[in-house]
Amino acid sequence: MTLNIGVIGTGAIGQDHIRRCSFALSGARVVAVNDINQDQAKKVVSDLGIAAEVYADAHELINAANVDAILVTSWGPSHEEFVLSAIRAGKPVFCEKPLAVTAQGCKNIVDAEMAFGRRLVQVGFMRPYDQGYRALKAAIDGGRIGEPLMIHAAHRNARVGQAYATDMAITDTLIHEINVLGWLLDDHYVSAQVIFPRKSSKALAHLKDPQIVLLETARGTRIDVEVFVNCQYGYDIQCEVVGETGIARLPEPSSVQLRSEAKLSNEILVDWKDRFIAAYDVELQAFIDAVVAGRVGGPSAWDGYTAAVTADACVAAQRSGKVEPIELPERPAFYAPA
Ligand code: NAP
Repeated sequence: MTLNIGVIGTGAIGQDHIRRCSFALSGARVVAVNDINQDQAKKVVSDLGIAAEVYADAHELINAANVDAILVTSWGPSHEEFVLSAIRAGKPVFCEKPLAVTAQGCKNIVDAEMAFGRRLVQVGFMRPYDQGYRALKAAIDGGRIGEPLMIHAAHRNARVGQAYATDMAITDTLIHEINVLGWLLDDHYVSAQVIFPRKSSKALAHLKDPQIVLLETARGTRIDVEVFVNCQYGYDIQCEVVGETGIARLPEPSSVQLRSEAKLSNEILVDWKDRFIAAYDVELQAFIDAVVAGRVGGPSAWDGYTAAVTADACVAAQRSGKVEPIELPERPAFYAPA
């Protein structure tokens, strides 16, 4: 069976995902697209040479008889409306992060999906599909370092634009760490604190950069994440898990090691898209394969909801300078890991 996909939002990641589904992955084709900017949607369809119908209305696309599953890649504030509409139509939906821009919006989706009675939503958190993180999780789950006690992590970008604000260090950047570290530990967060070290002279006036986020999990694991988005030298993701009997580190992306000009060196990536390019392919292929097999897996609406609640506490901690509690209801059995 070939899965017929409808895509809402033909901006940067929407175009990447359309390209993936059309030319890189197997088992799916894009048959419908929509964007608030219809001319752009038409141009994307024509530039890629795909036989997809351009819809003026996203809800019409969702309800179209020949659309089996939906990708939501429009801007964040529109996600909740489209995911709820897909659930009403009983269609599987892959939604780029954020699932919704408020925790309540995410909870509305969780409630709608549970009322529907089976999982329809996969959230576009791609880190759990990265080979390096999977190897790290296998080491932890295999007991290779004993119980995890601490995580030291870093998320560094070379630089960010004018529009990037202090709270985006949480909502746009840390959000991926919140998801992947919770997944690595199979644990959830109970408190957050944010510390601002000396500000980098390379950061624009309105932005506090770097930041250190301190998280505590229900089992007492302590996590420090450095978020430094004007580090100048590259896009660099670090993760070191300290366990009772050893330490496991996220592997570096592979690159040729050079002995040259009296130096031993490896390249560091600069573009975030290159760092997780394979993970994006694997996550979407997993969505397609699962839907064809009659189910939906991967990061769930519950994961989207808990990430939003955690991010809200981190933003509150940025503002208060205090340790902020993170209060989450118990995970419903509906969302127990497969
Ligand atoms: P983008 O380039 O701005 O694309 C968003 C597109 O959606 C634009 O074409 C926009 O049109 C369109 N749009 C806005 N409102 C819409 C609506 N109501 N109905 C239909 N289309 C609408 O942004 P992007 O970088 O692709 O990001 C899209 C989403 O993916 C964001 O939520 C972002 O956080 C997420 N994302 C995730 C990752 C990841 O690592 N998982 C990476 C990148 C992006 P206009 O430009 O005319 O407003």
